[in-house]
Amino acid sequence: MKKYPKERYTPMMQQYLTIKENYPDTLILFRLGDFYELFFEDALVASRVLEIALTGRDAGVEERVPMCGVPYHSASSYIQRLLDHGFKVGIAEQVEDPKLAKGLVKREVVRLITPGTVMDETYLDEKTNNFIASIHDGVTHYVIAYCDLTTGDSFVTMLDYNDEMVQNELLSIGAREVVIDPRFDITKIRNYIEQYQVTLSHEKRVEIPKDYEYLAEDLPDVRYALALGRLLNYLLETQKRDLKHLQKAILYTSNQYLHMDVYSKRNLEIMATIRTNTRQGSLLWHLDRAQTAMGSRLIKQWLDKPLINRTEIEARYDIVEAFMKDYIAREEIRERLKNVYDLERLVGRISYDNANARDLLQLKRSLQEVPFIKNQLIVLKKTYQLAIQTEFKDFRELYDLLERAIDEDAPITLKEGGLIKPGFHPELDEYREIKKHGKEYIANLVMKERERTGIKNLRVGYNKVFGYYIEITKGQLANLPEDIGYERKQTLANAERFITPELKEIEAKILNAEDRAIELEYELFVQIRDHIKQYIPDLQVLAKALATIDALISFAVVSEENRYVRPVLHDAHRVHIVNGRHPVVEKTLRDKPYVENDIIFDEETNILLITGPNMSGKSTYMRQMALTVIMAQIGCFVPCDACEMMVFDKIFTRIGASDDLVGGQSTFMVEMLEANHALQHATKQSLILFDEIGRGTATYDGMALAQAIIEYIHDQIGCKTLFSTHYHELTALEKELKHLKNVHVRAEEYQGELTFLHKVEFGPSDRSYGIQVAKLAKLPHSLIERATSILKRLESQKDRVRVESDYNLFSLFEMEETDPPYYSKEEHEVLEIIKETDVFSLTPIDALNLLYRLQTILKGKGGD
Ligand code: ATP
Repeated sequence: MKKYPKERYTPMMQQYLTIKENYPDTLILFRLGDFYELFFEDALVASRVLEIALTGRDAGVEERVPMCGVPYHSASSYIQRLLDHGFKVGIAEQVEDPKLAKGLVKREVVRLITPGTVMDETYLDEKTNNFIASIHDGVTHYVIAYCDLTTGDSFVTMLDYNDEMVQNELLSIGAREVVIDPRFDITKIRNYIEQYQVTLSHEKRVEIPKDYEYLAEDLPDVRYALALGRLLNYLLETQKRDLKHLQKAILYTSNQYLHMDVYSKRNLEIMATIRTNTRQGSLLWHLDRAQTAMGSRLIKQWLDKPLINRTEIEARYDIVEAFMKDYIAREEIRERLKNVYDLERLVGRISYDNANARDLLQLKRSLQEVPFIKNQLIVLKKTYQLAIQTEFKDFRELYDLLERAIDEDAPITLKEGGLIKPGFHPELDEYREIKKHGKEYIANLVMKERERTGIKNLRVGYNKVFGYYIEITKGQLANLPEDIGYERKQTLANAERFITPELKEIEAKILNAEDRAIELEYELFVQIRDHIKQYIPDLQVLAKALATIDALISFAVVSEENRYVRPVLHDAHRVHIVNGRHPVVEKTLRDKPYVENDIIFDEETNILLITGPNMSGKSTYMRQMALTVIMAQIGCFVPCDACEMMVFDKIFTRIGASDDLVGGQSTFMVEMLEANHALQHATKQSLILFDEIGRGTATYDGMALAQAIIEYIHDQIGCKTLFSTHYHELTALEKELKHLKNVHVRAEEYQGELTFLHKVEFGPSDRSYGIQVAKLAKLPHSLIERATSILKRLESQKDRVRVESDYNLFSLFEMEETDPPYYSKEEHEVLEIIKETDVFSLTPIDALNLLYRLQTILKGKGGD
């Protein structure tokens, strides 16, 4: 596509190019009639992403300019697609009336929509925050600031100077757009940006803008403010409006919360399932029974950052427990919460001047419920000594205003009237009256004037030139009082026409009534909306309080329905879970009951080594443990009959096949990276779940690594660990490692058929049952028989025989003397032959032949 000097293009294309110059990284949707058109590279990109036809347009130069377009009325779904792919979209509209325009109609970008700054509900998931983040590269550390423009929530955190950590944090925040300094080395976050189609934006300025200094008030030093400053400058630049609904940035450090890396969150299916990457089937899905979108978002935030402070956790338990006990209060509040709309986002729209009358009605309906909920909470707080936030206003005044002002049937549009209730504003009422009763007004005036003048046939008429006038016949003119204040306007053959200020006023009112009513309604509406802005901080406090209550009631409901119990937290290094269940698997098993299992770690036991057949429930058991801990630490009750546990500081998991989230590495490499990550960062207070570590490589490498990892955790870290393995040999470690205990998942074999009991018991599993599982999977009968005979042979061989060919880490010569030697099949055969040979009966030529044969075997050419 050749580029020509701008002047060579048609005036319209020049206008396009001028706009595009200011938005080089934005797809410009250029309004032409009923379409939004894209040109040049934008058209190539959009036609590919949106799967729409690429055409061309004559633009004054030799070649046609690439073009594609989407209909104006269905643009939002296309814009959504572009945002989902990480593009920024600029909407260029006509900004003057085509009828009045001289020459080309002026167009400007009237709206810039970027993935991190969308405010329009159509593009947002109500249950998820929409975060935009900025990074400050401090050379020895990173700072990330992020906020949700729709709710005003803002956060800041500092991280070690580690690219992987920064990417993991961004991934965990779910930032859809990242603002960086133009000089920032993007290779540091490239994997994250590319893999998740995150939008990159640039902003140089880092000083906190004057009017927004309060947002940084609680930040301890300038490093935090730099990241926040960059974010604010970008937002102000792109949004071009007041952002007073942004809330003070909350500072947190990673050690304030239960740490889980992205791998663990994925593996444990906390926010989404691994297979379908959807919410359904995840822990979030199970726990979220919130009535409001705010409650749902808060549960998600809590799951992302479970607590580690016992007092704070127990305060949540107290509230959940109270709501479980006080069923009636809970259900009443829940019922009321159903009428509470998304206050956080409503406030965002009010601040953004985007709120329409329906939004204000939603605000009103929400506020209507506040006094009741508040009273209930005050009573509960007193009765059960709860740490509930009840210090929020009840907004009577605002409610009354909205109740008086906003029409229940108000439309979405603001410029067609119907917004304001009768009785709210005398002038508006008058306009409406006039509109409705224009004739009556005139009739009243006629009556009044007849009385005043005593002229019975006085009448009011109308014509286009003079408008309304009072007409008095020549015959009556003499009776007209001198000081009546009429102004003569026209003389006819048999009558005189007059006007009065009052008549003109009525006339103006009648003629303008309709237009003025609509204008005035709009003005009043905007005044009310502006007036509400002063309530924004208080409304945000209310929103937080209601979201918290909603989330905790949700926990109470789930806990009650599923018979969950309140955990007892203690400082001892112990976990005692009786008859535990996996909260989600339990719900999804249809035709069989969930088999409950204890998880017991006493002070002396740190590692439970789990053996058992495939499919028996090892992973489920491990996940059950992690989910129980997470539920306990977000303040929810837990799926078991009794639970006493320590508070964990971090959870590391390596469960099931996991893809590489921000890397591009092989499966085994990822496995090792994850293992390393856990071993490097775990403390005695952490929980490690390793599921069949080492199986991604050759048997002996795997087994050796598994053993070494267990020993390392046992000797160096001492944290609670669930380690599942198919390497039976490892169960012998129980004898040597004081803090390790074997458990196994029971399965029973009867007449060659395997039944999974899913029951976890102390002691090692007797064998692995791999072939029985293959049989269940209905592999060919002959294959199963062959595998059974190979297994028999292998098991009968005293010396271990290497069966894998990709033996790659250890060499025979490097083995320590105490380790048993292990040989290839050929080596084994050679050894057998030598052992069987009667050396003294060999002739020299026999010996030579034998040597030749052995060599041939070793070279893999067969024996005879
Ligand atoms: P593999 O070794 O092949 O990875 P596994 O031993 O880890 O298998 P899981 O994936 O945990 O097995 O469990 C397999 C299936 O067994 C689960 O999907 C679930 O349906 C069922 N299951 C597991 N635990 C239980 C239980 N306690 N009660 C009932 N069903 C269970």
